[in-house]
Amino acid sequence: MPAVVNTFWLRKGYEGLTFFGTILTPSQQEADRFNARQGAAMKNHEMIHLRQAQACHDSWLCFYLLYLWYWLKTLCVGFSVRRQLKHAAYLLNPFEMEAYGHMYDQNYLTRCEEGAQEWRRYAKMSLKERLLMYRSNHKL
Ligand SMILES: [Zn+2]
Repeated sequence: MPAVVNTFWLRKGYEGLTFFGTILTPSQQEADRFNARQGAAMKNHEMIHLRQAQACHDSWLCFYLLYLWYWLKTLCVGFSVRRQLKHAAYLLNPFEMEAYGHMYDQNYLTRCEEGAQEWRRYAKMSLKERLLMYRSNHKL
């Protein structure tokens, strides 16, 4: 799956995102990096999202609705968590926690052939628990 440049949807500071199975990047430089070897981790990250969508009744719509739900939930009720971690609604989203947690593990996708399911475990955790886990994983 090659990356496609899209400056309308992506702003500076973002490396890329998956949109209904297509990887979008903010510049040709990012697309080249993504398509080159050093972008393997980022490609893995986006492929984990693909497997997560497979785990959501094999539906991108279901994936994005759930993704939006978790994002909005953190925005609405996670005031103290958002005060402690910039971009908490994104970084503590269960889908992102799984994708970031395994993006450097090139064998992860082969271990979850029936769809990436670890996000379900994060979704059951409270925001404070997710914040603690994020901090311990990133030594903050
Ligand atoms: Zn992601």
